[in-house]
Amino acid sequence: MSAKVRVRFAPSPTGPLHIGGVRTALYNYLFAKKHKGDFVLRIEDTDQNRYVEGAEDYIIESLNWCGIPFNEGPGKEGDYGPYRQSERKDMYRKYAEELIKSDNAYYAFDTAEELDAHRKDHEEKGKTFIYNWHNRQKLKNSLALSEDEIRDKLDAGEDYVIRFKSPEAENLHIKDEIRGEMEIDTSTLDDKVLFKSDGMPTYHLANIVDDHLMEISHVIRGEEWLPSLALHFMLYRAFGWDAPKFAHLPLILKPQGKGKLSKRDGDKLGFPVFPLEWKDPNSGEISAGYREDGYFPEAVTNMLAFLGWNPGTEQEFFKLNELVEAFEIDRVHKGGAKFDPEKTKWFQQHYMHEADEKVVAEKLEKILQHKEIEASSEYVLQVVELMKERAVFVNDIWEQGYFFFVAPTSYDPKNAKKAWKEDTSDLMQELIDVLKEQESFEAETLEAKVKAWIQEKEVGFGKVMQPFRLALVGAMQGPDLYEIAEMIGKEETISRLEKAIKTLG
Ligand code: GLU
Repeated sequence: MSAKVRVRFAPSPTGPLHIGGVRTALYNYLFAKKHKGDFVLRIEDTDQNRYVEGAEDYIIESLNWCGIPFNEGPGKEGDYGPYRQSERKDMYRKYAEELIKSDNAYYAFDTAEELDAHRKDHEEKGKTFIYNWHNRQKLKNSLALSEDEIRDKLDAGEDYVIRFKSPEAENLHIKDEIRGEMEIDTSTLDDKVLFKSDGMPTYHLANIVDDHLMEISHVIRGEEWLPSLALHFMLYRAFGWDAPKFAHLPLILKPQGKGKLSKRDGDKLGFPVFPLEWKDPNSGEISAGYREDGYFPEAVTNMLAFLGWNPGTEQEFFKLNELVEAFEIDRVHKGGAKFDPEKTKWFQQHYMHEADEKVVAEKLEKILQHKEIEASSEYVLQVVELMKERAVFVNDIWEQGYFFFVAPTSYDPKNAKKAWKEDTSDLMQELIDVLKEQESFEAETLEAKVKAWIQEKEVGFGKVMQPFRLALVGAMQGPDLYEIAEMIGKEETISRLEKAIKTLG
């Protein structure tokens, strides 16, 4: 690649960033890093009606959390700013007017009511109304009106839009980096609105002008923008600019495979479709996020990378830097990628196993702080060492190992019924006496001692160990019991046994 690679992620701040948007950002990031290029964030906020408070911050925080920060964008000014289209709005008019001058665009004065009437009229005849070469001479625009009429309307301040003049019959050949060459017949395209008399450009014009001015080399975006590609291609041609290369990423499909993955699918099946939790500023409704649900960003980016791409080898675990290394845009699939929530968990489990125990311990400490439970960092780390193996999320360590921090407040009734018999209280009382004699509470010594006592008494191991576990843990779960006893210490072990005798005896 000769010219510098510059890609952009160009979301509209209309709400939380969907996981599909995060994937688009990720692929842009990977492509930029792979080719030592720039990754630009541009906020496309020309449609003020759809602007949502907090959405831009959410987008930026999401990218940062995923570990895919942009190197140019709002708050990180480079040579191509500003990076919010609302702050660039004065730039666009001259480009729209340039297209009128070159006969690639025209003023249209048709009111919304008039257009509606045309639509209805067509529908009644079983046809679809398309504003293009087919009927534009019969409509209220600068191609059909006389120069005087046009000037009068403009002088009178009548509302207008500027429309692109789509060619009547041309076969465009456009190359997409993923889909190869596509042939598009312009005769079915409508004359899209580029600019409105309120001074605001539409998405199409602003997007092309900005990609050009920001020297974007590759446009990598979702498949939903494929229908706009012909117009964008023609706009570059009309301006006489070199078009960037285009790559349209496949849709992310529902787990069942049909249709686009939606927030509703996530709600129904219990998985987030957003990277971070989002609180809707109007309704106050909260949507789950991967971060808050306890996923590590490595798991999320690994999962997203495989939604529409694979390296062509058996390897499935890729850290971000490995993805940068392996990523090839021409290995991106054309077909939609089925979302698989279980797969995300599987990635999470892997990264949990791989995680540094100290890092996990820090996260567990936060959970404990939240519950107002005090424990030394050293102690928390020891718990992590004992429990990490079986956990998928950090919170699992709490759920499966709460007894390291707090005495059980209840006993699993089924387990209790099975483990606590008539003679159990006496047996546990004797166990307490054995434990009291113990100087060292180290797991191995403790085990030897208790085992010797059980053998001497000639009772079954289960008869002792089951109620012992119930007393310390509250249920038949958890790691080696002697490890637990060592961790919580002599005093606490005895106190839990006494409490169990009182409650269950
Ligand atoms: N603003 C568009 C969006 O919300 C950008 C599409 C593009 O990348 O061209 O996705």
